[in-house]
Amino acid sequence: VIEEGLPERAVVTTCAYCGVGCSFRVELKGEVPVRLVPDGRGRANEGHSCVKGRFAFGYATHPDRVRSPLVRGSIDEPWREVGWDEAIAHVAAEFRRIQARYGREAIGAVASSRCTNEEVYLVQKLVRAAFGNNNVDNCARVCHSPTGYGLKRTFGESAGTQDFASVDHADVIMVIGANPTEAHPVFGARLKRRLRQGARLIVIDPRTTGLVHGPHVRAEYHLALRPGTNVALLNAMAHVIVTEGLVDESFVAQRCEADSFARWRAFIADPRHAPEAVEAETGVAAEQVRAAARRYASADNAAIYYGLGVTEHSQGATTVMAIANLAMATGNIGRPGVGVNPLRGQNNVQGACDMGAFPHELPGYRHVSDPVARAAFEAHWGVTISPEPGLRLPHMLAEAREGRFKGIYIQGEDLAQSEPDLEHVHAALEAMECVVVQDLFLNETARYAHVFLPGASFLEKDGTFTNAERRISRVRRAIPPLAGLEDWEITQRLAQAMEYPMAYSHLSEIMDEIARLTPQFSGVSYTLLERLGSVQWPCNEEAPHGTPLMHRERFVRGEGSFVLTEYVPTSERPDGRRELLLTTGRVLAQYNVGTQTRRTANGVWCSADVLEIHPQDAEARGIAEGDEVCIESRMGQTRLRAKVSERVRPGVVFTTFHFPASKTNVLVTDGSDWATNCPEYKVVAVRVERAAGA
Ligand code: SF4
Repeated sequence: VIEEGLPERAVVTTCAYCGVGCSFRVELKGEVPVRLVPDGRGRANEGHSCVKGRFAFGYATHPDRVRSPLVRGSIDEPWREVGWDEAIAHVAAEFRRIQARYGREAIGAVASSRCTNEEVYLVQKLVRAAFGNNNVDNCARVCHSPTGYGLKRTFGESAGTQDFASVDHADVIMVIGANPTEAHPVFGARLKRRLRQGARLIVIDPRTTGLVHGPHVRAEYHLALRPGTNVALLNAMAHVIVTEGLVDESFVAQRCEADSFARWRAFIADPRHAPEAVEAETGVAAEQVRAAARRYASADNAAIYYGLGVTEHSQGATTVMAIANLAMATGNIGRPGVGVNPLRGQNNVQGACDMGAFPHELPGYRHVSDPVARAAFEAHWGVTISPEPGLRLPHMLAEAREGRFKGIYIQGEDLAQSEPDLEHVHAALEAMECVVVQDLFLNETARYAHVFLPGASFLEKDGTFTNAERRISRVRRAIPPLAGLEDWEITQRLAQAMEYPMAYSHLSEIMDEIARLTPQFSGVSYTLLERLGSVQWPCNEEAPHGTPLMHRERFVRGEGSFVLTEYVPTSERPDGRRELLLTTGRVLAQYNVGTQTRRTANGVWCSADVLEIHPQDAEARGIAEGDEVCIESRMGQTRLRAKVSERVRPGVVFTTFHFPASKTNVLVTDGSDWATNCPEYKVVAVRVERAAGA
């Protein structure tokens, strides 16, 4: 893969895969990227990288890249190559026609968590200023929207509390529903380094991940709970802390609301939350829960890291708040080595949320019903913004199936592969009159598109990404956009064609506007980023060099708020027909729906999704390693090869959704988090059988 000879020039930029946000030197010969080398000055990675990032230039220069806009009258017709002017004019005319016929709310957009802050900001501005509604969402809807809800309600800010370096000071690390060695490898390596230095590890996960016992690391406690019972287990840990006198009374008295704490203490002390009372439900021995709770509560510094195994549940937001309760009750907030740390999936999903790509929030997490916030944007944009929240993505799709939502602009998301309950998603896309996909490749969603707008890869654009530790880093253009335009230019031209006057001449102007209108970003500029290399928000007058640790002296909301986290069992439970619970996740070599990693050299290390099944469950069904198995949920069915493995507990099966042929998400139900509609990807009751003829 590495070309002979010395590169001629190099450009420093940020990885476009996961939320770690590693810094890389892109080495080029002429206009050809030949190597990505991790940059030692990058604060998030300090010279390290993983196999995904190292090989990322492979997809950026892949021959499958689309180099010209494409248009067709219906999804049965072949694509027709057109110029940018014709494509943009066609989209604008279609969207105007739809709004004239079906109403202003009949169109919307999905912003990409893989695009830059500036590009996402423009998409939500396009929707609010040119579409005239709030129908904009981003992939956090299906991953970390419960994090935004839960941390805002308890702490006052919709983001993780720490920087990555904080883990170097942790004495006890609790990892809940996350697999950082595969999904966030560079941070996973840092976490393992701390474990080798003596930190204790608690893992809460139905699966035996690499952290539980991998090379050089071993969890002191692995609470292998039944999928769907996070809240019951975390409440049980809190019960131990409260009833065994392990609360940090001084922290709670100084930093938290007295009323909400008193209510929570009485609630959680109820015997129904005792580990023994929920043992049968969670499947975790009460003594293990007691011991883990004591370990977490008695550490000098205890840190919690969590992932989608927390959020992608019917009680995702409740689980986030149960975690926040634990951290506040034990005083593990506001200094190095502690905190509540969501490991965000996509490179810029934190940024996409910060930038207001939500139907209910403007940039900076201000609700659209807030007249002061709305007035600031209205004055700057010269429009009136609706005070009513728009449609969330699942509601846009449901409205489309009902014939009321007719047009969508999808920037860099592959809804036809990534969403749950896929058959209904496909039906919704088919029912729309104008589906516009902006992406690097003709992805699965492009099958349903009427217009395809070829986007630019991270090597072809300028801007910024914000990683999981709120770090804003520069993305720098190494080569010109293959199809001629960067993504922000496409959105700007669409806004102009829809007669909204958008006229930025450089990305820095967009960042300046973001800084002017978004309190957390008020001190951010390209000049500052060049000087500091990167900066963590909030970056403002009080913190001109950013904020590595939040909530140090007081919580952003003032006092920390305890929330009562009643456990409500999911309706996805095994029954006589569907005896197993499916949970889904990721593997190291692949990323999300695989559109990028399936087109890079490292992709060959994982060439198909497989179904992990415990030997006991496999034997009971006559299934051997490598057999094709049929998996059926109440939503649909698919087939995968079996991998017989003790990494899953009996009664649980596991797979990934990196390959379209697997149709994994056909199985995932329409169940979702009560607060945010984040889908319940992590719990699906399934029947698994050896496929006929296998
Ligand atoms: Fe890219 Fe994440 Fe790997 Fe870093 S850890 S190189 S950001 S995929």
